[in-house]
Amino acid sequence: MSRTLLYEGKAKQIFQTDDPYEALIFFKDDATAFNGEKKGQIRSKGMLNNAISTLFFELLDSRGVPSHFVKRIDERSMLVKKLKIIQVEVIVRNIVAGSLSQRLGWPEGRPLPRPIVEFYYKDDALGDPLINNDHVAVLGLASPEELAHLTAEGLKINAVLQEHLLSRKVKLVDFKLEFGRFDNRILLGDEISPDTCRFWDADTDKKLDKDRFRRDLGQVEEAYQEIYNRLN
Ligand code: UDP
Repeated sequence: MSRTLLYEGKAKQIFQTDDPYEALIFFKDDATAFNGEKKGQIRSKGMLNNAISTLFFELLDSRGVPSHFVKRIDERSMLVKKLKIIQVEVIVRNIVAGSLSQRLGWPEGRPLPRPIVEFYYKDDALGDPLINNDHVAVLGLASPEELAHLTAEGLKINAVLQEHLLSRKVKLVDFKLEFGRFDNRILLGDEISPDTCRFWDADTDKKLDKDRFRRDLGQVEEAYQEIYNRLN
């Protein structure tokens, strides 16, 4: 396979493959927070996020949620369908945390009466601001029908992941999804990992995700490993 670098993000590199419709994702150990202000490395993160994302994409596929996932290639690499990413981050929340706590003035840890779906404009220079349906339409990021589809998929993914994680004694607090266009369809893309989700231990509420890095809580590697162990 040839290895032309198509794109390098904060935590991943995307390479072209010999197939024009596929790409190879390489998961790095690099970690950033607060829009790139905080930088560091989390040992073995690339390997664990690749493995955890693989498990979630396979689970979702078995429940009828299509994604870009084709197969895991090796410890740090995944083969995916090459999407045209929709510049909207879809965040689904079950429990108040992070920016929602700030926005509503509700304490972190309060269960929401029902899941909330939010949209953020995927734009680093603007710091990924919260946007609504009208903003998405005016910016021309997605049609109303596509946005309704992203919302429905977000809620379905939430139901599937929440149930599975709870059976492994993990609460799914919130998570971020990205979608893209492929062959006239919309597919789930990116990754689903402790970098992009908040996972709390079901009994103790111990944080088992990137908040340990963001908030300097220690035992960061151990948290990623713990999620992997519980899913296996
Ligand atoms: N998230 C993400 N990438 C982002 C922003 C948020 O993966 O650029 C995830 C984050 O890990 C959490 C959820 O989306 O699981 C909600 O994040 P929130 O809006 O609370 O932002 P934060 O408090 O992390 O700034």
